[in-house]
Amino acid sequence: MSCLFCRIIDGSIPSKAIYQDDQCYAFADINPQAPVHVLIVPRQHVASIAHAGKEHSALIGHLHWAAAEIARSKGLTQGYRTVINTGENGGQTVEHIHVHLLGGRPMIWPPG
Ligand code: 5GP
Ligand code: ZN
Repeated sequence: MSCLFCRIIDGSIPSKAIYQDDQCYAFADINPQAPVHVLIVPRQHVASIAHAGKEHSALIGHLHWAAAEIARSKGLTQGYRTVINTGENGGQTVEHIHVHLLGGRPMIWPPG
């Protein structure tokens, strides 16, 4: 059985599309933590950046390029945050790599 985000990518679970291309799909987070909260996921299933090989490095870079494109399209000129949670201590709950794009409010540091 494919994972939650693979099912969102194949359309069997509905989502609000924000951006897509041959390598990635971006959609609105179901539980937004900021006025803009978009998840950018690779079409290829890779569980986390800890599971990624060197052959995935361009793909992981592409996810961040897409995040910046979406931020431009959303007018986030004051800045934004991109986050990849990894593993249990990293707060990862879905085991399919995803970049969170958070914007539309000031972010604090350190994160929780
Ligand atoms: P993680 O905690 O793994 O870094 O992020 C997973 C994210 O996926 C969370 O922010 C959560 O709100 C989001 N999420 C979980 N299930 C769904 C879903 O069915 N649809 C959408 N759009 N987002 C989801
Ligand atoms: Zn998957």
